[in-house]
Amino acid sequence: MDEERGSEEKKDDTKPCPVCGETIKATAIKCRFCGEDLQAFQLKKEAAVEREIFSGRPAVVYSVWQLLLVIVTLGIAWIVMWFKRAGVNYRLTSQRIQVERGIFSKTKQTTELFRIDDFVISRPFSMRIMGYGYLVIKSSDRSIPDLTLYGVKEIETIYEQLRKASFAERERRGIKVWANA
Ligand SMILES: [Zn+2]
Repeated sequence: MDEERGSEEKKDDTKPCPVCGETIKATAIKCRFCGEDLQAFQLKKEAAVEREIFSGRPAVVYSVWQLLLVIVTLGIAWIVMWFKRAGVNYRLTSQRIQVERGIFSKTKQTTELFRIDDFVISRPFSMRIMGYGYLVIKSSDRSIPDLTLYGVKEIETIYEQLRKASFAERERRGIKVWANA
């Protein structure tokens, strides 16, 4: 049985090159026909697939001050905050950031990640103890207004993912990456 498996493995130790289609070794890092760096090719292919990072609405209450306001107003503030946040919807992917606003008339703002130059994360104490923070997204393109994502849990993880994805998007599109990006 072991021998059979061994011969099967032998049969399988080749694969077609994903770029030129010639038969190459399964373990090949570089295609000996077209010269393509197969690891780099795979990374580029993965980066081209749009992956969802976060989708949803911000939390109704995300800072201690809001919580206090809700308590002091016996919940009335909560209703006001609920309506304010009900119109906001975030969709963050490995390629773009979409923010939808408005309950009745909706506006949608889409920013491509490769056009973003800076992500500034902030976790003030009043939000941090509730498990929240906010993220300001800036572009050097003046036609793109700054975006602030707030009321989202695990904002640090999202920040890291967006930063990496933005970097990958710039590389994929052949945009020069600055040292501080
Ligand atoms: Zn090839």
